[in-house]
Amino acid sequence: MTHNIEQLDRLDPLAACREQFALPENTIYLDGNSLGALPKASAARVHEVVSHQWGNDLISAWNKHSWIELPLTVGDKIAPLLGAAAGQVVVTDSISINLYKLLVTALNMQPGRNTVVSEQGNFPTDLYMVQGIEALLGSQRCELNSVPTEELDDALDENVAVLMLTHVNFRSGRIHDMQRLTRLAQDKGILVIWDLAHSTGAVPLNLDACNVDFAVGCGYKYLNGGPGAPAFIYAAARHHAQIKQPLSGWMGHANPFAFSDNYEPAAGVRQFLTGTPSIIAMAALDAALDVFADVDMQAVRNKSIELTELFLSLKKDHACLFDLTLQSPADPAVRGSQLSFSHPDAYAICQALIGHGVIPDFRAPDIVRFGFTPLYLRYSDIAQAIDILATIMDHALYRDSKYNQRATVT
Ligand SMILES: *Cc1c(COP(=O)(O)O)cnc(C)c1O
Repeated sequence: MTHNIEQLDRLDPLAACREQFALPENTIYLDGNSLGALPKASAARVHEVVSHQWGNDLISAWNKHSWIELPLTVGDKIAPLLGAAAGQVVVTDSISINLYKLLVTALNMQPGRNTVVSEQGNFPTDLYMVQGIEALLGSQRCELNSVPTEELDDALDENVAVLMLTHVNFRSGRIHDMQRLTRLAQDKGILVIWDLAHSTGAVPLNLDACNVDFAVGCGYKYLNGGPGAPAFIYAAARHHAQIKQPLSGWMGHANPFAFSDNYEPAAGVRQFLTGTPSIIAMAALDAALDVFADVDMQAVRNKSIELTELFLSLKKDHACLFDLTLQSPADPAVRGSQLSFSHPDAYAICQALIGHGVIPDFRAPDIVRFGFTPLYLRYSDIAQAIDILATIMDHALYRDSKYNQRATVT
């Protein structure tokens, strides 16, 4: 197969988006699914918030610059990326904390049911949060049942309170059928929580149309909000009157500045707030989302598929790459914006790639994971990444001892 790479870049409808990011020279960044690149607007906004809003306006900035409303205004900026009407998304805390809030909320809505069904190989924090709630409440109230993917359908019965799944698997990139699984669960009276960490900003979503109950998602992956950017919660409007979230902090109170002794939840998704939001982090995410303002998510998806298919197609041209075994679905229709390959020397290969200016990541035990962010990757970057990978594999450069020392963050 031959590719006219230059032509693909020239005709790319998203080509101009790359200009909105501050990217280091001589680096091909294939890890935007772990930490999105820096949008130039975020750097400028953080400077503005720190130097002018905080520096000059001090405490009055909470009103003057509507800091107090940011969790909801930024939530409403994310909503269109989720296929969600306004008023259902709030930006707050981390996914882990938000899962805790949603899991307890959902369990409280399901008297007589105690089981949380999830999937083996789900992102660890998702399973850990259920385990923590189980330890706190006892298994009478909360019991985790994590099953192999192919047993999910059969695990959904009348004892199940909640189905909690990650839409795009972090390791393999496999996409679950959100509509089908949501309906299947709801037919049995089960509430559904979707983790959209590897979906938001990468694949088109239709939470409202799929009748999803609750969801969480990440600010620092494909949304490019910066390291540790706040996460978000989606709660369908039909549930707002029944929500009783366990982390009943003052920022989720109906009237925080009444300083009442008694908790009374705010209306709507605001009640999912707990403490004071980090305004600097929120501002970085707010500005990062402006990159998506004129972007069609279907165009993002189309390019994502083309980038991954190009990678796979070019890989086939190199015999030295045959030992890298695809662990992602071969069918792009059920694959998120990533490609994962297993190899016994995955860690060292990953380090050697980084040493040569190509940045993927390593996921234990043996996966090299490449993330594809259509907003700032060019087709020519993919061709170059494959050439570098082929050089590394052909000459076994990854065997160098300097590529075999484990760092804390992989
Ligand atoms: C990245 C990721 C998280 C991150 O959770 P935090 O608590 O925000 O650190 C959670 N779930 C999945 C599926 C992820 O990929």
